[in-house]
Amino acid sequence: MTKNKLQNGSDEISSSKLLSDCKRIVIKIGSALLVDATRGTVHRSWLKALAEDIARCRKRGQEVVIVSSGAIAIGRRHLNFGSGILKLEESQAAAATGMIRLAHAYEELLAHHDVTLAQILLTLDDSEDRRRYLNARNTINTLLKVGAVPLINENDTVATDEIRFGDNDRLAARVAAMISADALVLLSDIDGLYTTDPGKSEHAEFVPVVRKITPEIDAMGGSANSDTGSGGMTTKLAAARIAMSAGCSMVISKGKVERPLKALEDGARCTWFLPEATPRSARKEWIAGSLKTHGTIIIDAGAVSALSSGKSLLPAGVSDVKGNFERGDAVVVCSVDDQVLAHGLSAYSAGDVAMIKGHKTSEIEALLGYRGRDEIIHRDDLVIM
Ligand code: GLU
Repeated sequence: MTKNKLQNGSDEISSSKLLSDCKRIVIKIGSALLVDATRGTVHRSWLKALAEDIARCRKRGQEVVIVSSGAIAIGRRHLNFGSGILKLEESQAAAATGMIRLAHAYEELLAHHDVTLAQILLTLDDSEDRRRYLNARNTINTLLKVGAVPLINENDTVATDEIRFGDNDRLAARVAAMISADALVLLSDIDGLYTTDPGKSEHAEFVPVVRKITPEIDAMGGSANSDTGSGGMTTKLAAARIAMSAGCSMVISKGKVERPLKALEDGARCTWFLPEATPRSARKEWIAGSLKTHGTIIIDAGAVSALSSGKSLLPAGVSDVKGNFERGDAVVVCSVDDQVLAHGLSAYSAGDVAMIKGHKTSEIEALLGYRGRDEIIHRDDLVIM
């Protein structure tokens, strides 16, 4: 195992260990790595080697999500849009044609390893609107559960300037936070963070690990430029902030090598952003602390003991419901004698909980007319107080 020794000598990190310990990894791939800008074609040999890296992760039981740019860069050539800055409607049209080609290349190369690809296009709204956020999260989780690899990009064909991420660094971080990923790998054309732009100053020092985004770190991002895509170091630091607050580690490393994930594990230079919390504890902290609750679910004695032994809340254990909440809202869970037991995110609205309370999970569909989740509050969405 190759170790990356830190500047202060007292702390060591191992990319190999950090990556192989992850259950769920999001890999972000920038246009500059993937697309030959003059010909508008995919760098197939590079992508073929990356597919081997992804297949290796899948083989050792890891779940992988790809966030890839490149749709606009590929599509603009096919539509002969020239090399200048595109108008919004031109980049939307370019994305519409480029995304098909991009997905096709990934699909074909991953299929050699029997890995199934699934395309998801997201807008900023999808990560902010609670209902759409939950739908996107459920879809990605379902795909991962069945072993598929989601390929995600911004839905550039409908995203207008005011409502777009514009860069896939932050989109990838939102996705990583949304699905409680353990690590986000940003494959870039720079190998990590420097104290100042290494292209401009010989005094630029490499920063191998960041445990907190301080104003000093932010200032480093302002001066050090990275790739030719939309995301420079500033958006990478913004991505790190999003990922770290969700307990997800992030690494910036050079993508322009053959098998960049393997290179990273073999000890290639990189910058790790390491949060204190784990994805699970960060999510639980968020549920316990910062949420406004919208109602109360009252549960019977059987459910009280199920919850305290770490189980999810099922409809059968619910005796009553108060308040007016929607699916995904935070609620308080109380015992029949009004003791506050837990906070959680309800998978059903107050009206639906009222209809299914006291019933078996198998009866949900007949009662509501649709098949939702088996649990009213899944244990991952529940914090015992
Ligand atoms: N979504 C854009 C595309 O696929 C790329 C955004 C970025 O460069 O980060 O072309």
